Amino acid sequence: ARMLYEVRVAANKGLGLFAKLPIPRGTRILAEKPLVALRSGQRPSDILGYAKKLDEKSREQLLGLSWHPGSGIKRLGRWSEALGWAVRNRRTKAIDATMKAASSSAAYELALFPVIARINHSCLPNAQANYHPLHRTFNVHATRDIPAGEEVSINYLPEVGQLQGQRVAKLEEGYGFTCNCPACDLSTNAGKEGEQSRKETRDSMKETRADMPARERQEWLREREIEALNLMLDMYRREDIVGREVASIYYHLARLQSSGDAFDDALTNARVGLRLEEDCLGADHPEYLVAL
Ligand SMILES: [Zn+2]
Repeated sequence: ARMLYEVRVAANKGLGLFAKLPIPRGTRILAEKPLVALRSGQRPSDILGYAKKLDEKSREQLLGLSWHPGSGIKRLGRWSEALGWAVRNRRTKAIDATMKAASSSAAYELALFPVIARINHSCLPNAQANYHPLHRTFNVHATRDIPAGEEVSINYLPEVGQLQGQRVAKLEEGYGFTCNCPACDLSTNAGKEGEQSRKETRDSMKETRADMPARERQEWLREREIEALNLMLDMYRREDIVGREVASIYYHLARLQSSGDAFDDALTNARVGLRLEEDCLGADHPEYLVAL
């Protein structure tokens, strides 16, 4: 069986993960167990002990994540320092997978997923990574149809609706790179339009009516929120932003609509949310199944 992806040089971004075959939306691209994992109470420097016990291939993989030059065990020592530093500063992509694992499983405090660490960021990603606490694997699913040769990307930021300036600042501070994805490139019309609709969506949520009677106001607020959520979801549809965070917005909208007795709309939106979530937990590619 052929692999669905390969790791190779991505222009200006170091290494990246690329689709080798067409990958339909909803397909699992890979599932990865941590290469090394530290439990609660262990320190980043304890990684050194684990690394010494790894087989040669895994150790090379681990060393490959370092930006520190050097060789052999000396390089390992530096690597563990680098990890300690990175954990404090949240500098590397590897650390992002680490943090996600830590927050979704009590078993691991720190865990390193070396292939997933190679996936670059986009504010308009075509994949999503989710930690599966029972299998203790990180799973990456295609959230859009990905043609062969396209780079696989995930969103490093937890929220999807931030303005370009906020996203760029967070990515620079947290990961040390400047995002130049299509949403962050404000020199294009698509970039400008996306940014404009983000601003409008945010502004539409600011308005309040403190002067209204309480009951009327509650109703009014619900309608306003429904309007704002619809605006936001229109924007995500235009930019093809999907994934579980967007699914949760559809669920929230469905709840608001059902509390306002708009049951048909609520059902429609709940189904859209479910469909988006299925894409992030979904099916396996035939080539992937053969490889298992
Ligand atoms: Zn971006």
